Amino acid sequence: MLKSTKQFFRAAASKLELSDEQVNKLLEPNKVHTFTIDVDGDSFDGFRVQHNNTRGPYKGGIRFHPDVNEDEVTALATLMTLKTAAVNIPLGGGKGGVVINPRELDDKQLEQLSREYVRQLVDEIGPDTDVPAPDVNTNAQIVDWMEDEYQQQTGDGSGASFTGKSLNNGGINGREAATGRGGVYALQEFLKSADFGSGPVTIAVQGFGNVGSFFATVGAQNHKNWRIVAVSDSSATLRANSRLDVNELKEFKDDDGSFEDYSGDAEVLGSDELIKQDVDVLVLAAHGNAVTEDNVDQIKAKCILELANGPVSTEADETLSAMDVSIIPDLVANAGGVIVSYFEWQQNREGTDWSEQKVNEELEECIIDATDDMVACAQDNDVDLRTAGYMVAIRRLSESNDN
Ligand code: NAD
Repeated sequence: MLKSTKQFFRAAASKLELSDEQVNKLLEPNKVHTFTIDVDGDSFDGFRVQHNNTRGPYKGGIRFHPDVNEDEVTALATLMTLKTAAVNIPLGGGKGGVVINPRELDDKQLEQLSREYVRQLVDEIGPDTDVPAPDVNTNAQIVDWMEDEYQQQTGDGSGASFTGKSLNNGGINGREAATGRGGVYALQEFLKSADFGSGPVTIAVQGFGNVGSFFATVGAQNHKNWRIVAVSDSSATLRANSRLDVNELKEFKDDDGSFEDYSGDAEVLGSDELIKQDVDVLVLAAHGNAVTEDNVDQIKAKCILELANGPVSTEADETLSAMDVSIIPDLVANAGGVIVSYFEWQQNREGTDWSEQKVNEELEECIIDATDDMVACAQDNDVDLRTAGYMVAIRRLSESNDN
């Protein structure tokens, strides 16, 4: 992922005629913190990469995963810097991780790990410095422990030191749905500039977890002409001729259902059938590298919405460009989560409580502006949307670097 992030970055930077020195400076993380955390006699490696803060405090999640490593955390921190710049919020980019399978810990040990992570970094994070959030295998409970530890260590009770907190601990309404909802806003805005005709827009969604299911339910509710005809999880693809009842499917998944066991009104196919569907829009909401040079020739969609991080490899991206497939890149498409985290940080600093309606309205405005900036840059420079998204972000970063 670090390699492809750098490749996309360099392609966009060359369009902006940045020197190698400027590019290297922008790609280099400001600080990489590495440390070990002891829990009941076992040691685990921890990281916090603070990539860039020229536009505001570092922002990015903390993941607990056995495969986490410094390269991955650095790539994700770089992507955060680009994402916050692409959607024009006054934050920078960071990311953290601990090499651990949290399922091997009991609740007490998990709390110990979370609090120790904060103690290791207490002088390096905070509302004006670096504002972490949950990520893979971390959640509101873990962030609540971290925020409490930060408060105990520093006396800062604003709650603005972490986002993704639980609602009764300063969290924000609408955060759970934000990434999927943001994807709906990005797609609706892109479709205004695309020549898709005026008929129904057919959509297939790979991955029906948090992001994919909210994309599907909000999209179906807000756009009567969007027809979600296929969805998948890791076990199977569900396909309907006309449209799927996505609200019913969300309830099915929320009850721990697996699509291979679904007996409702849909055809059940293998999970790898999803990307082959002949639809207008393919939504990738499962994992990175879902489309690579090995399966790119199976794509029939005219547009791809990237809700996972890095779901299209660099090689597949080139092939899709040649096939004239428009890709709405992760940088903007899945930024809803970090945008609403920014609102949470603002809310805590103001000492106010934002309603869900206000959150959704501000999110829509932010994503629409970001999509418009990206589409305009693509048209002005005759480049694809990903290059344009990177160009908009890099231009903003270089401007703030120069100031
Ligand atoms: P999740 O774990 O809730 O859901 C992932 C879904 O993908 C599950 O339904 C799983 O069954 C499915 N899946 C896994 N492998 C699959 C496969 N091969 N084919 C089809 N489906 C498959 O995760 P999530 O929070 O929805 O995140 C999805 C992606 O979006 C991740 O890449 C994540 O990093 C990215 N992302 C999430 C957020 C957020 O706010 N949650 C923000 C930005 C990016």
